Amino acid sequence: MENNPMNNVNNQRPVRVKNELKFREIIVKRCEDLFGCFKRIIFTGEELGGFVSRGFDDHIKVFFPSAPGKSVTPPRITEEGIVWPEGARPIGRDYTPLSFNAEKNELTLDFYLHDDGVASEWAAKAKPGDMLAVGGPRGSLLIPTDYARQLYLCDETGLPAIKRRCGELNAAGTAGNAVILASARDARCREYLADHNDMHIQWIIGEAPGRRPDNDAVLASVKALPLSGKDCFIWATGEGGLVKAIGDFFTVQCGVEPDFVRAVAYWHDK
Ligand SMILES: Cc1cc2nc3c(=O)[nH]c(=O)nc-3n(C[C@H](O)[C@H](O)[C@H](O)COP(=O)(O)OP(=O)(O)OC[C@H]3O[C@@H](n4cnc5c(N)ncnc54)[C@H](O)[C@@H]3O)c2cc1C
Repeated sequence: MENNPMNNVNNQRPVRVKNELKFREIIVKRCEDLFGCFKRIIFTGEELGGFVSRGFDDHIKVFFPSAPGKSVTPPRITEEGIVWPEGARPIGRDYTPLSFNAEKNELTLDFYLHDDGVASEWAAKAKPGDMLAVGGPRGSLLIPTDYARQLYLCDETGLPAIKRRCGELNAAGTAGNAVILASARDARCREYLADHNDMHIQWIIGEAPGRRPDNDAVLASVKALPLSGKDCFIWATGEGGLVKAIGDFFTVQCGVEPDFVRAVAYWHDK
């Protein structure tokens, strides 16, 4: 890893685009277990018409009912702003739209199943007919596909975005420019990117069953990644503390311009 300051010579910075904010009711159409690690849930619903997601790491806010089988009413958008129905607001969590099929009117989300979470527990029990409310995506970051060197670092929660990105890079013919470093508690998660095994993917799996790989081990692997040249982009998501350390490493120690480092906490270890 070079530790010299790197001013990016590829001037193509990511571009942010906005969407009109919409809230929608969505209904579970079918579910699939993915390798015992994720639950893939395919949603439908009349209000899905016009759903747009242009960026591979877009997110929607998913609102959960207060109890299984109960419904959740999305807010209305008025001239005064967002108006929620009376009573307690539903709990919301961020998820990546893996795909939207406008012809079939199907939105697919992949939920990583972990202990003790409203979203994860809802997903584990979800069945056809259950409903949720979602808002967004409010906007997208359009990240060029042609940087000469692209690093993608994530844990389970970033895999849906990475899967989308793999599709984009393959379509653009630049998949060979990317290195993916993914960490997971369970070796079965490797199956998640099996369609892209021809890409450069490195996995770090927790040593004890169900245990997250050690932050120091992940950081050491990150620091060992090849980052030569000046035309690069780095995308890092995962647990907040680790993502902060990774972001600082690239911007402070390696001197990569912050516009070319996207480091976003996807969850916090509490
Ligand atoms: C932009 C964005 C996109 C995201 N996309 C996805 C996606 O497509 N699929 C996906 O599965 N997740 C995704 N996430 C992560 C997801 O929003 C969080 O993991 C969220 O905290 C899960 O909510 P919960 O109600 O299950 O758990 P919470 O109520 O938030 O947390 C409950 C407990 O679980 C722990 N916890 C939370 N998340 C995890 C985890 N991943 N692993 C282990 N412990 C955890 C917390 O530390 C806490 O102790 C995304 C996050 C962001 C910001």
